[in-house]
Amino acid sequence: MPDSTSIDVAILGGGPAGCSAASWLAQLGLSVLLVEREPQLCAALRGLDFRQDWVLGQPAAALADLALHYARQIESTAGVALRLGTRAESARHAAGAWTLQLATGEHVQARALLVATGLRLLRPARYFAVPHPRVLDATSLTARRDMLPPGRALLLGAGDNAAENALFLADRGFDVTLWARGSWRAQAHLASRAEAHPRIRLRLSTPLPDALRPGDSGVSVGDERFDMVAALLGFEPEPSAFALLSEHDRPHAFVAGDASGRWHPCVQTALADGVQAAKLIEQALRPEAAMAAPQRFNNRQVIHLQGLRFDANLGILDFERSGPQPIQVDAEVNLGALPIVARDADIGRVLDYRRIRAAIIDECTVEHTDLVEALVGKLSNRLMSLTGVVGVRVKLTKLEIFPDCEVAVSSETGQW
Ligand SMILES: Cc1cc2nc3c(=O)[nH]c(=O)nc-3n(C[C@H](O)[C@H](O)[C@H](O)COP(=O)(O)OP(=O)(O)OC[C@H]3O[C@@H](n4cnc5c(N)ncnc54)[C@H](O)[C@@H]3O)c2cc1C
Repeated sequence: MPDSTSIDVAILGGGPAGCSAASWLAQLGLSVLLVEREPQLCAALRGLDFRQDWVLGQPAAALADLALHYARQIESTAGVALRLGTRAESARHAAGAWTLQLATGEHVQARALLVATGLRLLRPARYFAVPHPRVLDATSLTARRDMLPPGRALLLGAGDNAAENALFLADRGFDVTLWARGSWRAQAHLASRAEAHPRIRLRLSTPLPDALRPGDSGVSVGDERFDMVAALLGFEPEPSAFALLSEHDRPHAFVAGDASGRWHPCVQTALADGVQAAKLIEQALRPEAAMAAPQRFNNRQVIHLQGLRFDANLGILDFERSGPQPIQVDAEVNLGALPIVARDADIGRVLDYRRIRAAIIDECTVEHTDLVEALVGKLSNRLMSLTGVVGVRVKLTKLEIFPDCEVAVSSETGQW
């Protein structure tokens, strides 16, 4: 292993997004170093050995097989160097280049950096502090759901993952309770199928259990007993690489795949994102090529909501817990490149800004949130989930927390 390497692009994360970007960058003639913390590429997919039909052209392919497929191609792509089983321990940007220090001690100098580190499942400590075979998360449930003997299942969550698994298990003969603190977040067709299923019992808009008590014969929740419980409470971008970059203003740093906070994580979207990232990186590193290319899509549309003031359930202080607090939300919602609309069109063909306003107020009032940072995160995810949205900027201001100033937290998600 060399002590120091100098390349055009360093990619952190060797999943579908990182592999796809590596493949394209190499074809564009840029040198790539791909850093994957696991010993193999596409590590997250390798554990998903079930048949799926999300990937067009690959019906009934197992994700584990796709993982092998992608990995083999990258392993034999000229111009892509691999560093497996390691990670970047520090990153700094100076004099037009990123310098990464890998855990192996190697220093990597790169003109651009791509973060493609995927997602981390939300696994609340109160459920997962002590591992137990009857308390599952999204990955372990997906890996085992074909083999589990039918019984009583409790699924915590009401997103796509919870609805799909509820239907899958109910069709296999489970009696499923689907329990969520809020209302449905799943796609409408999944929610209505779950509502109509005789083996699925819904307990929505109910605070989640404080604790699970797993034992040899099942899991007790309050005075109920289930054969298994799965907490399907969503996910967030894996934070490790972002933590390294937090002190920089991130010149020539890009994000692709699930790490960019996609509302529906999917292999196909990750592959496409990798291509897009590769092209953006090429433009950044070769601005002369970008200037020569015709600008076909220069109509980026952004919806701005400014100064939206209302009372929210937010804060950790006693008076904040006992009553709502006045806040202000400013949001910018990036719809990406759209055809120019120069005459009145059908409101159904655009993102109705009333939906954005309603989503913001709903997210801030549906339940109490302790930290303003967490509420900003929830708002970003919610707005990113609206159809057509590719990027979100949110600023949340607590208006009355101090007599002499306002306090605000802002965040930027997705493409800008
Ligand atoms: C249970 C489950 C079922 C799913 N089912 C389907 C399905 O049926 N069809 C479908 O299309 N999609 C499915 N998905 C989603 C799909 O797996 C993801 O959308 C896809 O893998 C995203 O690709 P990615 O490259 O963005 O991220 P990932 O595949 O998560 O890859 C990220 C990589 O980065 C690595 N990494 C993380 N941090 C670091 C770091 N600091 N340094 C170096 N490396 C790092 C990780 O080890 C990982 O290999 C499912 C996901 C789950 C969890």
